[in-house]
Amino acid sequence: MADVQTIGREEIAAMLRGAAAQIEAQRDMLSRLDSFGGDGDHGTTMARAMGLVVKTLDEVPEADANELLTAVGWAVMGVDGGATGPLFGMFFMSMAGPAAGKDAIDAPTLAAMFEAGLSGVRKQTRAAPGDKTMLDALIPAVGAFRSSADAGVAVDDALRQAADAAKAGAAATSEMQARFGRAKNIGEKSVGNPDPGATSVSLMFQGFWEGVHTNA
Ligand code: ADP
Ligand code: MG
Repeated sequence: MADVQTIGREEIAAMLRGAAAQIEAQRDMLSRLDSFGGDGDHGTTMARAMGLVVKTLDEVPEADANELLTAVGWAVMGVDGGATGPLFGMFFMSMAGPAAGKDAIDAPTLAAMFEAGLSGVRKQTRAAPGDKTMLDALIPAVGAFRSSADAGVAVDDALRQAADAAKAGAAATSEMQARFGRAKNIGEKSVGNPDPGATSVSLMFQGFWEGVHTNA
């Protein structure tokens, strides 16, 4: 595997396309997970959001990373169908900030982008770790990326670590009881299946890694 020290707008676009491919491939599984405690639309909503991501990337080929992420964030934010559009839209939009004015994005900069994305999401919800939401995958993924970046790990390998942490975080939500979102209504019955939103975050980070890895 190539050691990717910096990425630019091409790789940011490839990461987003990688995420879209992962979500699209798993849309039925995501909706099935949402059918246990929610309304069964999570895969459909995420696939629609990711369709808009791809459409936006196709429409703004000249944009830099900051502009790309801002445009993608706005598009996803506007997806109707519940909680996820605003949460994922805010993630992408907030990621744009630390990319401003940077042609070469190194691992610490990408860590700052993920952290800004996470704080954007956390401004939208009072959900905390352990509440069985997307945050239970997002927080460990961003933390793992930051630790790798601080240790001098290259961008692609740090993304691999983040994807692994997101996957473990999503798997751990199986044992949790939902305290936010529609699944809260089924109380204890929410235990036993992973949270759909956390599963989407895991797929998204897998796609981020694939986007950079296959481009490298
Ligand atoms: P909806 O619940 O509105 O139908 P989706 O089915 O698309 O939206 O997404 C459900 C996922 O969204 C949940 O699995 C959870 O991860 C996330 N989610 C829902 N509500 C919240 C919330 N208030 N805070 C954080 N995450 C949430
Ligand atoms: Mg739903």
